[in-house]
Amino acid sequence: MADDDGFRARARAWLAEKVGEEYRGVGGGPGSEHEGLPVRRRWERELGRAGWIGIGWGEEGYGNRTATLAQQVVWAEEYARARAPARVGHIGENLLAPTLLRHGTRAQKDRFLPPVARGEELWCQGYSEPGAGSDLAAIRTAAVRDGRAYRLTGQKIWTSLAQYADWCFVLARTDPAAARHRGLSLLLVPMDQPGRVDVRPIRQPTGTSEFSEVFFDGALARADHLVGGEGDGWRVALGLLARERGVATLVQQIGFERELADVVRTALATGAIDDPLLRARLVTQWAELRVMRWNALRTLGTEDGGAGAPSVAKLLWGGWHQRLGELAMAVRGAAATAGPYDWSGERPYALDAAQRMFLFTRADTIYGGADEIQRDIIAERVLGLPREPR
Ligand SMILES: Cc1cc2nc3c(=O)[nH]c(=O)nc-3n(C[C@H](O)[C@H](O)[C@H](O)COP(=O)(O)OP(=O)(O)OC[C@H]3O[C@@H](n4cnc5c(N)ncnc54)[C@H](O)[C@@H]3O)c2cc1C
Repeated sequence: MADDDGFRARARAWLAEKVGEEYRGVGGGPGSEHEGLPVRRRWERELGRAGWIGIGWGEEGYGNRTATLAQQVVWAEEYARARAPARVGHIGENLLAPTLLRHGTRAQKDRFLPPVARGEELWCQGYSEPGAGSDLAAIRTAAVRDGRAYRLTGQKIWTSLAQYADWCFVLARTDPAAARHRGLSLLLVPMDQPGRVDVRPIRQPTGTSEFSEVFFDGALARADHLVGGEGDGWRVALGLLARERGVATLVQQIGFERELADVVRTALATGAIDDPLLRARLVTQWAELRVMRWNALRTLGTEDGGAGAPSVAKLLWGGWHQRLGELAMAVRGAAATAGPYDWSGERPYALDAAQRMFLFTRADTIYGGADEIQRDIIAERVLGLPREPR
């Protein structure tokens, strides 16, 4: 406890010193990933220099500090309180790194973890394809061994932050003869391969592009950059998905709290707070956020949070956040349909933060595993209900 207090004091002092005018509230995060990118990339390196990236890795020696679970929560709380920039390097830090720590070779860890910890190399996740989203085992991108490398051919889609990434971890088919998930492997692919890797940003309803289509046309990945052995990709990838769904939830709730406070402030300003139905929705939203927090605390620190816990957490927050987006518009009434300023040639499609939040939250029940899939997992693996007919 005293340790945690000391940790909080050190984190707060460091943030107070570093998060000055340049960095405070520069934006970013889901729905706004295009905002303040050069500044946020500088910030990543600032974090890296002080060892704040990778504090949850459980292993040090890559330029990172390590922290207990309680301290990781403290760090997230202080980070949010300081209004420090939304992270750009979270895919490398929270998805790639734990995978390498668990399944990577010594050489892979030594090559890839230090630049993530320094905030220098950015990663994206190349799993989904036009015909393989929920049904990930249907992946068709092929990786064919060619001497000391693999050659990749195929298409990924919805690849978040691909246009900024230096590397992509790609789930590809190395054995076309093996049944579905058995022939898959995870490869680390450099993005800077002109003519062989083509990134085409997809424009979203927000007018911005956070994800892209990625085309591989003979792209090369070194054979020693195969993670976990050939044909082992399914096992490696599934561990990573469970992590994506569960662990960051508590941290995320700090952001949710702030968004809910903004909606309440708007309701007070517009008078929507006097509408008993809207008031009831706001209170429900507040109560549900408390329930999510207790649920996250309850499962924190157990292996994957216990059976089905990542799926329960994803179901809870996805729907909650989507309803918050709807509420953010409802408290504004008809004014929600108008932009923050008149549209013009220079500003043809301007939206403010709440409008972008509303539009982006439509995706919350899809990415990281759609709601229906989470319900399937809970039904089959936790409740033991009969399997869905295939
Ligand atoms: C904002 C955002 C960011 C993303 N970032 C990434 C990324 O960085 N990297 C990456 O690889 N992917 C990413 N994705 C892709 C995401 O993982 C997929 O969209 C998701 O897995 C769903 O796949 P799909 O879009 O192909 O939909 P489909 O699988 O085609 O599903 C369509 C609908 O059918 C339902 N459905 C499908 N199968 C079943 C079933 N068996 N039973 C009942 N219902 C079913 C689904 O729930 C859904 O409602 C991102 C998606 C979004 C929206």
